[in-house]
Amino acid sequence: LRIKPLTNDDVNCLSTRFQRQVITTNPAIPNSIIVQGEKKQVFSYDYVFGPESTQEEVYTNAIVRLVENFLEGYNVTILAYGQTSSGKTHTMGTADNSSISPDSKGIIPRAMETLFSSMNSLQCKNQKFSIKVSFIEIYNEDLIDLLGEGDMEARSQVTIREDSKGNILWNGLQEIKVNGVEDVMSHLARGSMNRQVGATEMNSKSSRSHAVFSVIMAQQKYVGSSPTPPPSTPPRPSTPSRLSDSSRIARSSSNLNLRMSRRFDEGDWVTVTSKFHFVDLAGSERLKRTSAVGERAKEGISINGGLLALGNVISALGDPNKAKHVTHVPYRDSKLTRLLQDSLGGNANTLMIACVSSSESNLNETINTLKYANRARNIKNSVSINQEESGWNDLEHLQSLVLKLRNEIKSLK
Ligand code: ADP
Ligand code: MG
Repeated sequence: LRIKPLTNDDVNCLSTRFQRQVITTNPAIPNSIIVQGEKKQVFSYDYVFGPESTQEEVYTNAIVRLVENFLEGYNVTILAYGQTSSGKTHTMGTADNSSISPDSKGIIPRAMETLFSSMNSLQCKNQKFSIKVSFIEIYNEDLIDLLGEGDMEARSQVTIREDSKGNILWNGLQEIKVNGVEDVMSHLARGSMNRQVGATEMNSKSSRSHAVFSVIMAQQKYVGSSPTPPPSTPPRPSTPSRLSDSSRIARSSSNLNLRMSRRFDEGDWVTVTSKFHFVDLAGSERLKRTSAVGERAKEGISINGGLLALGNVISALGDPNKAKHVTHVPYRDSKLTRLLQDSLGGNANTLMIACVSSSESNLNETINTLKYANRARNIKNSVSINQEESGWNDLEHLQSLVLKLRNEIKSLK
């Protein structure tokens, strides 16, 4: 939970009566807050960051370990939830660019710095990485590729598919290869510029859509027993390439032996793929507060539709009383929940950052957010590293491996 301080804009907009701080922390009860509404309520979270908390504190306390998990090969998702102007985009860094001051940087640029410096560090020198980014917006249940080139109409349709292992695949989305932090930041800034923004009474610059920035990492790891991996690192690409026709014809066992000795340690390489989603959700406020009409009202309803579905998924997964009976989790009720299906109660480390404003004018929305976040906290995900041995789907590789192992067994006997 992060509590936003009153900004100059807030002070200018609100009468002094509504500037009263209604959420307080108590050092004696760590990670809890006290809400001074009509009645006094206490809520607890995994972390509570008060109005004075810095971007750096949020990052080092709550985020850095997730970046480390990501480097190990786990999927990670961070969601920023809260009403408009509660600090979601600021905390996440979705709209940051490379000229932002070091202190104000949000989670995305900081995570990218950790990621690239770890990749270039000594511990990782026996690994080969490939990093790609994508940036998608959900606006009125349409999926918009924020990194797509050219006219909106001319761009290919983004669709969501599920493979036989239950992995969610996003088709038709640009995934751009990146080589460093600067690279990532330029794509992030370009995508943010493309985000749909609309002016409502609540916040003239606020985004009325969900934005999902994703980092996809494929790493080839040496897991063999010899202290140094063979010199030709790694022996083959992650999708095994087919042998040329001429080598297919000459398939005598002596020929196989030759190949074997060249790729003796192949099974010692694994490919690990992991996804990191940074989700900046649309404002969670009720539509009536924005006095929206027409097109804007439609947006409001459908944005809440996505968040409503997210709430229902969270209830189905997170309510300990319901969890025993619920067999159906309504992921398909919205694009947002479908897109994030394998990150919600699935194979991912998931963190929700609930953003609230401490002033009294927002009290109702704040209490909604606090309750929503409390339910989310009950979800237990089960995570595993997405690892597959190099060449595992390659019949010829497996055949040569069998021959190699037979020979080894024979000589042992
Ligand atoms: P949201 O994305 O939830 O609509 P923003 O992140 O855009 O909200 O925040 C609204 C305004 O408040 C922005 O001008 C932002 O810079 C400022 N702000 C948000 N959180 C903080 C914070 N912790 N410290 C200082 N300013 C903040
Ligand atoms: Mg925002």
